[in-house]
Amino acid sequence: MAMKYMKKSFSKMEPYHSALITDGIVINANESPYLPPKKVIDIINEEAKKIEFNRYPDMDERELDAAIAKHYGIKPTQVTVGVGSDELLDVMFRCVLEPGDTVLGFSPSFSMYQVFTELVGGTYIPVYGDQNMIFSIDTMIEKIKEYKPKMVLICTPNNPTGQFIEEADIRRVIESTDALIALDLAYIDFAKCDYAKIALEYDNVISFKTFSKAMALPSIRCGYAISKEGNIDMLNAVKAPYSVTTYSQIAAKAAIDNFDLYKDQIEKIKNTRDVLYKSLKEMGFNVYPSESNFLYVLMDKKYYDALTNNKIYIRRFKDGVYRISIGTDSDNKAILEVLKNA
Ligand code: PMP
Repeated sequence: MAMKYMKKSFSKMEPYHSALITDGIVINANESPYLPPKKVIDIINEEAKKIEFNRYPDMDERELDAAIAKHYGIKPTQVTVGVGSDELLDVMFRCVLEPGDTVLGFSPSFSMYQVFTELVGGTYIPVYGDQNMIFSIDTMIEKIKEYKPKMVLICTPNNPTGQFIEEADIRRVIESTDALIALDLAYIDFAKCDYAKIALEYDNVISFKTFSKAMALPSIRCGYAISKEGNIDMLNAVKAPYSVTTYSQIAAKAAIDNFDLYKDQIEKIKNTRDVLYKSLKEMGFNVYPSESNFLYVLMDKKYYDALTNNKIYIRRFKDGVYRISIGTDSDNKAILEVLKNA
């Protein structure tokens, strides 16, 4: 049966699937190659024993909000938690946009921004980079003046190109408009600094972060937003009640309480990234500088095919355009070996 009950405006949508790969090197989803630190896992396992399975989770995620607030030195009322940052982004789009409203975002960027925009009948306007695919803040500010969007999405470091936008440039965008600026900081723990807290200095900014990347916990589906109380209340007003499970709240709290223990593995991923970047450059590949846990590479399809045939699974956007998530040093060796032979 085709999607018989799907409304007309959604008829082009397709179910989203991803292959379940159990064998080989899986570096297609920007996951960490490492488990969380042992102490974090031990705390999660201990706390999980105390879960009252017959009770709903704490709807207001009080302990987790407090732990995130403590980490940043902010108030728990300036934080909310969702089922991945995906849930909170989705909620924000539904809260802010009326059908026909415009959203701006750099392109290429996280594909869900366009999906969320179109789900509520908005129009997504991509702002492209220069010939080297470098995004320009001046261009973004010009486009904001031209299109007068309701919302602007900025992913930094950007998925999939890896570009980090400096705090001063982010402030220029924020101060140029009344539009809501969504700062997607999913990968910022791999960059030189985390400026999530600037959301508290302005009325028009929400920062989004996730436990799925540097915190190595995509399995628990947990992300959070930081903003002034009014924006946090807006998200909480529309978010599904009890969406974040008790287990996720426990696990995320264990991670953020022990953020310092992640420092070594984050450094390791950054080093592995820099080694892979340098090696690919030396081999003549068209690879982009990245402050994240992935590299964006434009290369002939034959290299992608060779990697896949050797059970090394990277992300393909279209023929010639790929993203390699950073794995271990031995993953690097395997990748480089295959590419050399191809
Ligand atoms: N933002 C960006 C830029 C991402 O790449 C992702 C994950 N692919 C997300 C948000 C969503 O992450 P999660 O829902 O796992 O928190």
